Amino acid sequence: MDGGISQAQAARALLAFWRAAGVNMDEAEAVFIGAAPQAQPRMAVGEPLRSPPAPARPKRPSPGPDAPVETARALAAAAATIPELQAAVENFDGCALKATARNTAFADGVVGAPVLLLGEAPGKDEDEQGKPFVGRSGQLLDRMLAQIGLSRRVNVLISNTIYWRPPGNRDPTQGEVVACLPFVERLIELAAPKLLMLTGKAAAHTVLKREDGVMRLRGRRLLYDREGLPAPINAMVMLHPAYLLRQPQQKRLAWADLLASEAWLKELGVVLTAHS
Ligand code: URA
Repeated sequence: MDGGISQAQAARALLAFWRAAGVNMDEAEAVFIGAAPQAQPRMAVGEPLRSPPAPARPKRPSPGPDAPVETARALAAAAATIPELQAAVENFDGCALKATARNTAFADGVVGAPVLLLGEAPGKDEDEQGKPFVGRSGQLLDRMLAQIGLSRRVNVLISNTIYWRPPGNRDPTQGEVVACLPFVERLIELAAPKLLMLTGKAAAHTVLKREDGVMRLRGRRLLYDREGLPAPINAMVMLHPAYLLRQPQQKRLAWADLLASEAWLKELGVVLTAHS
C-alpha cells in the first residue's frame, strides 16, 4: 500500500470525518470542490483592500448529512453473501477512519460458522494484517475460545463493529460507529449464527442498542432482534480480552461466561471441537 496521501485526499477525509460525525458539511464541501487552485489577483501597492467577490456556489444536489449512512445501508443491503459484504465494506469511503488506516480488517474465520463473535475496532496488529483480533487480545481470545471447543479455524467467524483502526487506538466516534453499523447488521443477518458473542461494552451497546453496563449484560441469555430478521438471534455478552489483559483478576468472570456459552451452544446442538 502506498503510505502517502495527497492534500486533496486528506481534505476529503477530513470532510468525510465531520460529515460522519453528524456535522452538515455542504458548505465546506462546496468550497472544497470549487477550490481548484486559481491564480490570485495581484494587488498593486496602495490599492485599497477589498474582499474578493464570493465564488459562485457550484450547483449540485446536496448529499445531506446522512449520506454516508445511507450509502452504507444501500451497499450492505445489496450484498447477498459475506464475501460480497466484505467487498462492499472495502469499497466504502464513508467512514473517515479508512483514510488513516493501513488496511480494512473485516473478518476472520469460517463463513457459515455457528458462532459469530464481534469485538470493537482493529488495533495496530489488526490494522497491519487486515484481520480482526490477531494481536495480544486476539491471542488471549483464541485461548479462551479453545477452552470451550471454539476456534476461528473450525466453528467461529470473528469481526468487529468498526473495520478501520482509529488513530492511536482512540475510541471510535458516534459518527464512525453509525457509518459502519449497516454492515455489522447485515453481517449478522447473513451469518445467521446460532449464537452471537459480543465482547466488551462497545460491541454490546452498538449491536444490542442497550446502555446497561457490561457487568450487567455479561453471561446472560439475550436475544438480538431487528426488523427484517426471520427470527431473533441468541446473543451473549462477554468481557473483552483487552480488559482481561489489564484486569487479570476478572478472568474468573470470563470463565463463567465461557461456561455459560458452552452450555447454551450444547443445547443448541453446536458441534464443539475437542478442548485443547
Ligand atoms: N480489539 C477488538 O475489539 N477488536 C480487534 O480486532 C482487536 C482488538
